[in-house]
Amino acid sequence: MTLQSIRDRYDLIVIGGGITGAGILREAVRMGLDALMLEKKDFAWGTSSRSSKLVHGGLRYLKEGRLHLTYESVTQRQRLLAEAPGLVEELGFLVPIYDGIGPGRNALAAGLTLYDLMARHRYHQYYDCSAFSCMVPRLNTDGLSGGYRFMDAQVDDARLVQRLINEAIGNGGAALNYTGVSEILRDDAGNVSGVVAEDTETGERCNISTLCVINATGSWAETLHASPEAGLHLRPLRGSHLMIPAWRLPLFQAVTLMHPDDGRPLFIIPWEGALMLGTTDIDHGSDISGDIVTSREEADYMITCLEAYFPAAEISLKDCISSFAGIRPVLSKGEKDPSKESREHVVWRKQGLVTVTGGKMTTFRTLAADALKAASRHLPANARLRTEEPAFQPVPALPSCGKSLSASQMRRLYGRYGMRARSIIDTANSKDLEFIPGTFTLWAELPVLAKTEQIRHLSDLLLRRVRIGLLAPEGGREHLDRIQTLCESGLDWDSDRWKIERKMYTEHWEHAHRVPQ
Ligand SMILES: Cc1cc2nc3c(=O)[nH]c(=O)nc-3n(C[C@H](O)[C@H](O)[C@H](O)COP(=O)(O)OP(=O)(O)OC[C@H]3O[C@@H](n4cnc5c(N)ncnc54)[C@H](O)[C@@H]3O)c2cc1C
Repeated sequence: MTLQSIRDRYDLIVIGGGITGAGILREAVRMGLDALMLEKKDFAWGTSSRSSKLVHGGLRYLKEGRLHLTYESVTQRQRLLAEAPGLVEELGFLVPIYDGIGPGRNALAAGLTLYDLMARHRYHQYYDCSAFSCMVPRLNTDGLSGGYRFMDAQVDDARLVQRLINEAIGNGGAALNYTGVSEILRDDAGNVSGVVAEDTETGERCNISTLCVINATGSWAETLHASPEAGLHLRPLRGSHLMIPAWRLPLFQAVTLMHPDDGRPLFIIPWEGALMLGTTDIDHGSDISGDIVTSREEADYMITCLEAYFPAAEISLKDCISSFAGIRPVLSKGEKDPSKESREHVVWRKQGLVTVTGGKMTTFRTLAADALKAASRHLPANARLRTEEPAFQPVPALPSCGKSLSASQMRRLYGRYGMRARSIIDTANSKDLEFIPGTFTLWAELPVLAKTEQIRHLSDLLLRRVRIGLLAPEGGREHLDRIQTLCESGLDWDSDRWKIERKMYTEHWEHAHRVPQ
C-alpha cells in the first residue's frame, strides 16, 4: 500500500499507528466506516513496541485508589485472554514479602482480593518462605517471610498492534506507514475537512479529505491539537528495560521487586525466551523528535535492584542482551513524582478533530470506543459501535498442523497472525519451522512478514514484526545472511539496498539497543 494507491476521500482518518490508532481503525472498520490510518514512522514504532508488554489491571493503581482504571483494565485483560489466545497469555506474578520493606502481608491480601473480585476469579495465593523461594530460585532470603502469587497477562505489544491493523485491512480498512500528517485542513468555518499526508522518506505529499480526524499520536498529540485545558499538558516520561538471557535466572513467572533506593516497584518478567527487567520512570525532556534510548543511569538503577534481590546470580550490565526505552503519554498538571502521575486517558474534541491520548495499552478498546463516540456526530448516522464483538477474528482452539510443530507453537502462530498462520505453515520448508536461536520466532515467519506487512526497512522486520533485535545477541547480526536469503523475494531489494539496510539496522541497533556500559 502506498500514497498513490489510496483514495482521496475517507469517512475517517486516524493519525498514529500505535495501539491507540490501530484499535480505533479496527473498531471503525467494524462499524462499516471507510477508514484510513496514517503513521509517520513504522507501525508500533512509538511507545507501543516499547512497553513492559503486560496486559494488566495494574495493582499499583489500586493502591493509588484508581479503582475505575483498575476495574476497566482487569475487565479488558479478561476479554483479551479469551479473545486472543496465543497472543495475550496468562502470566503468574510473584510478590516477595520482606520484613519492613514494601506493603506487608495484610495490605497485599486486601489488594489482591479486590483485584481478583474485579476479575470474578480467585487467583492469588500465599506461600511461606520455603515454598516461595522454591518458585524463585536464587532469591535473596534475608528477611523474606513469604510471598504471594497472583495472575496477570502478557503480550507481544507490536504484534498486538499489527494484528489489529492486519484484520482492519482484511475487512476493508487502509493503513500506511512512513506517512505523516503535516497539516490538518479546515473549511472556511474552521471545521476539519482533510489532512495533508506526506511520505516521510520520498517527500511525496497529497491532500485527503474526510468527515473527521482522530489524532492518536500518543506523546506527540499536542503537535496537532493544543490542550484545551489550561496547565494540562503531555509530560513525556521515559521508561527503559534491559533484556537478560533466560539461562542467567530460571524464572517462569514474573517477580515484583521494590527498588532498594526508592521503593519503586520493578519487574523481572519472562518474555519470549528471555527475561525483561524494568522499568524506570523519569522525565525525558521536551525533545521527543529522535530515538528514545536507555541512559547509563537507568541501566545502573535497574541492575542495582536486580543485584539486591538476586546477589547469587551475579548479573551485571555486560550480561544483558539489549535495552529499549519508550515514553509514556502521561497528562500532567504539575511537577508530581513521575510514578504518581495519572495513567487515565483524555479525549479532546474541536470541530471535527478528536484527540485521544494517555491511557494504557491494556485498555486500547476503551480508548477506541471513547474516541469514536466523540467523533460520532461527524460520522454517518448508521455507523454503530460494536465493542461487544470479539476484538479479533476467532482462530481454531486446537489447530491441527501435520508438520513438526507443537500445540504451543501452533497457538502462538495463530495468536500472532490470526488465520494467516495457516499460510505461514503451509508454505514453510521443514528446516524453517525451527526457532531462531534465542527466540520463539520460527525462520518461516520471516518471508511471509517481509512480503505482506509493509516492510520499508530491515529494522521494521527485526524490531517490530518479530523481536529478534531485542532477543538475539547483537540484535541477531549473525543471522543476517540467512534472513536476507529468506526475505529476498518478498522484499524486492537489490544487493546494494540489502547492504545499506544491513548497515542502517546495525548502526541503529548500536545506538538505540546496545546496553549502555
Ligand atoms: C516503559 C513503558 C512501559 C509500559 N508498559 C505498559 C504495560 O505493560 N501495559 C500497558 O497496558 N501499558 C503500558 N505502557 C503504556 C502503553 O505502552 C502506552 O499507553 C501506549 O503504547 C500508547 O500508545 P499510543 O498508540 O497512544 O502511542 P504510540 O504507541 O506512541 O503511537 C503514536 C504514534 O503516532 C505517530 N505519530 C506522531 N505524530 C504523527 C503524525 N504527525 N503523523 C502520523 N503519525 C504520527 C508516532 O510515530 C507513533 O508511532 C507502558 C509505557 C511505557 C513508556
